[in-house]
Amino acid sequence: AVATRTPFIAGNWKMNLDHLQAIAFVQKLHWSLKDAKHGDDSVEVGLFPPFTDLRTVQTLLDADKIPFALGGQDLSTKDSGAYTGEISGAFLAKLACRYVIIGHSERREYHAESDEVVAEKVKAALRHGLVPVICVGETSEDLEKFGASAVPVGQLQVALDGVASSADIVVAYEPVWAIGSGQAATPEQAQDVCAKLRDVIADKLGADAAARTRVLYGGSVKAANIASFMREPDVDGALVGGASLVVDEFSAIVRFQ
Ligand code: PGA
Repeated sequence: AVATRTPFIAGNWKMNLDHLQAIAFVQKLHWSLKDAKHGDDSVEVGLFPPFTDLRTVQTLLDADKIPFALGGQDLSTKDSGAYTGEISGAFLAKLACRYVIIGHSERREYHAESDEVVAEKVKAALRHGLVPVICVGETSEDLEKFGASAVPVGQLQVALDGVASSADIVVAYEPVWAIGSGQAATPEQAQDVCAKLRDVIADKLGADAAARTRVLYGGSVKAANIASFMREPDVDGALVGGASLVVDEFSAIVRFQ
């Protein structure tokens, strides 16, 4: 991380915590962070609950002036219409979501999301004023065949096709073999790929965008390893899954410094 980019610690709840559990969780997390420095200027905390929790969490953040950013875990490529089961970026924006995760490996794997669909979703997010958190990463087979960076670099190149240089985006490098496995990448591996992803941002969107865009690492991030990732110059935060569901653990990750 470098001082010019605000660190971003993002909790991806995946399909965990219903809206009632979410209330208790957010209140406990807020309490646990009450004497910690966070908010936009020091460390930005983002929560990505299931769609059915968003209204509840938004109301709570608003009522109690809790400085966590809110985001969806996915959105539709379409804005409205006869698309049963889909969620429009317009709806997320109306619920004060600032972010939306796009192209998580679980969407790519279980919902067959191609790089092209991911690119369409990035444009949908930007159309609605949402900041896409674009996830890229290689599987263990990719790692053996092509090394760590080729697949995520290729995924990001497609995802950024046609994106304006002024666009506000976040990129998350998540090696698929590190997600939920307890086997995180080493800080050096994460730095190497995150630096290459920043080069892609420079190529596609220009040097200013590359300098301001936050690139996160994700995959088995814990309180015990967060500081080692944050010491790397091109790692600006973390996308946290399992450890984001445990108040004390997530709170300790936010307090990494
Ligand atoms: P994990 O998940 O922290 O449980 O490894 C990360 C993610 O999928 O975003």
